[in-house]
Amino acid sequence: MTDADEAKRHKERTSRHKAVVDARIAAAQIDKGLLLVLTGNGKGKSSSAFGMAARMLGYERRVAVFQFIKGKQHVGERAFLERQPGLTWEVCGEGFTWDTQDRARDIAFARGGWAKACAALANPAISLVILDELTYLVTYRYLDIEEVMAPILARPPMQHVVVTGRAAHAAFEDAADTVSAIRDVKHAFRAGVRAQEGIDR
Ligand code: ATP
Ligand code: MG
Repeated sequence: MTDADEAKRHKERTSRHKAVVDARIAAAQIDKGLLLVLTGNGKGKSSSAFGMAARMLGYERRVAVFQFIKGKQHVGERAFLERQPGLTWEVCGEGFTWDTQDRARDIAFARGGWAKACAALANPAISLVILDELTYLVTYRYLDIEEVMAPILARPPMQHVVVTGRAAHAAFEDAADTVSAIRDVKHAFRAGVRAQEGIDR
């Protein structure tokens, strides 16, 4: 086959592929508030959620972040995003149970945080609600899954919600429009590297 033949074949193949992709894009006509679940043991759940916060702010829409469990830990996104108009950042936890060793206090923090999240989930002016590390509240039984799902499902129709955390309860995945389970292939921590600023926190 000559180079010209190969180029022609390539052009035919890519234009067929483009036609299929274009048809799929044309067929997707629905606009709706999405529920996204970012789970799995790999790195990249919260940072992906905060990436969507930045995207949404780029459209000058409002974002509310609720950071459950890990409030004490500093993350770089908070310092940056909190300065942006249109974004609120609520800390609803002090750390993991093994840090706090006070279950009653953890539950009180979680419940207080959840009540605030519920207000955001009822506010159509907020385009994106990020419920970071929410899955643990259900796993640790700080909140019932029904108590969590009801306000998420009853939210304004155009509001997007992102839930992050490992081992998401099946109810989150069942209700979600988009689910990504990030696979842990390798993590530098296991080679003895501590959390690096701007990458891990
Ligand atoms: P990130 O905030 O970096 O997107 P994440 O939300 O997916 O991470 P978490 O379980 O919330 O993951 O843990 C956050 C912290 O733990 C980060 O410092 C991250 O690098 C680290 N981490 C995430 N996954 C792993 C892993 N599989 N092994 C070791 N450390 C991890
Ligand atoms: Mg996280």
